[in-house]
Amino acid sequence: MSVNPKKRVAVVGAGVAGIAAAVALKRAGVDADVYEKESGPGGHLTRWHALFPGRENAATVLQGFLNEVKENRLDIRTGTLVTDIRKENGLFRVTTGSGECSEYGAVLLANGFRLFDAARKEEYGYGIYPRVITSPDLEKRMEDPATGLLIHNQAPKKVAFVHCVGSRDAKVGNRYCSKVCCISGVKQAIAVREQYPSCEVMNFYMDLRMFGSGFEELYQEAQEKYGINFIRGRVSEAAPTLDGSIQVKAEDTLLGCPLKVTVDWLILLVGMEPGIPGSLHDSLGLERDDAGFAGCRNKFLLPGYSSVDGLFLAGACAGPATIPDSVNQGRAAALSAIHYLNGKV
Ligand SMILES: Cc1cc2nc3c(=O)[nH]c(=O)nc-3n(C[C@H](O)[C@H](O)[C@H](O)COP(=O)(O)OP(=O)(O)OC[C@H]3O[C@@H](n4cnc5c(N)ncnc54)[C@H](O)[C@@H]3O)c2cc1C
Ligand code: SF4
Repeated sequence: MSVNPKKRVAVVGAGVAGIAAAVALKRAGVDADVYEKESGPGGHLTRWHALFPGRENAATVLQGFLNEVKENRLDIRTGTLVTDIRKENGLFRVTTGSGECSEYGAVLLANGFRLFDAARKEEYGYGIYPRVITSPDLEKRMEDPATGLLIHNQAPKKVAFVHCVGSRDAKVGNRYCSKVCCISGVKQAIAVREQYPSCEVMNFYMDLRMFGSGFEELYQEAQEKYGINFIRGRVSEAAPTLDGSIQVKAEDTLLGCPLKVTVDWLILLVGMEPGIPGSLHDSLGLERDDAGFAGCRNKFLLPGYSSVDGLFLAGACAGPATIPDSVNQGRAAALSAIHYLNGKV
């Protein structure tokens, strides 16, 4: 028996927000199709090695989400890019890359974020100097201790992190704070010290934003237990030395003096950028906030409600978010979609 499209929900994106939303819909007996452009579910979580603040193994956490997918028999259409969503006569028409079109009573947008392209900050030389890498690159390297940050099989002696790469930066058009990179930088600095105990680690920051539960404690631990040096200052330039190391020019804004330091690796803590395609704005009239993330109707009363009736938002598509934030938003958006389908909104 075919299900009335008016009672079906399309979930766009099978990251943690989309999975949480789809599980909540399924448990409430609501029929949902989940669209995922990649070959498997999990979103950016599939790219992380250990998670803040407890440094839990990311693969184990991901497995927990995959178990939920399996136990709830979610219908995830992997390898399926949603290219267009339109609303006609009260129904949403969702079109995919192959031109297939299906109708739904509501849509739950959980298409996440894009990582800032560090090559846009030319002064750091990402993509040109091999020893300048990003925080996601480091996550990948840490998965394999045989490679990690070894140089000619030797442990690195000095590593520096740069905070706010592509965030809080009017020059690249992103004035907002990406929220997760400060604590990611602390987590990664500790991971480097654990793997290479003799390596000196320093973090260059503008100011540190430890907003979440357990974050401030991890930052304290990073200084007291792991001896990580947090330097308030902006890195102005990075250049390679003859042996391939990286010379960093910065200003220590607390001491008010310029600083030059040569490191084995420079790690750029890249921020989050909106992943909402412009076409959704045009075809649906979906409004975006000043930073370009999907805008909600009322931050206090209706978070998760987009500017379009029947289209709900969850996770990092609506702004920088942690995994627990995204899961909570996914469940909340599922409930809002159910209320909408039942005519209660
Ligand atoms: C460097 C870094 C480290 C981080 N470490 C942590 C951590 O340790 N702990 C923590 O809590 N958080 C961490 N985060 C944040 C975490 O990654 C996000 O909270 C989480 O990924 C948001 O989940 P999401 O489902 O909203 O989006 P995503 O993970 O981006 O998932 C969105 C999904 O939608 C799919 N999609 C996008 N567009 C389409 C389309 N048009 N059609 C079909 N599918 C589509 C994508 O392929 C993706 O699978 C980190 C972030 C960064 C940048
Ligand atoms: S979380 Fe920290 S590193 Fe990330 S943009 Fe905000 S202040 Fe900068």
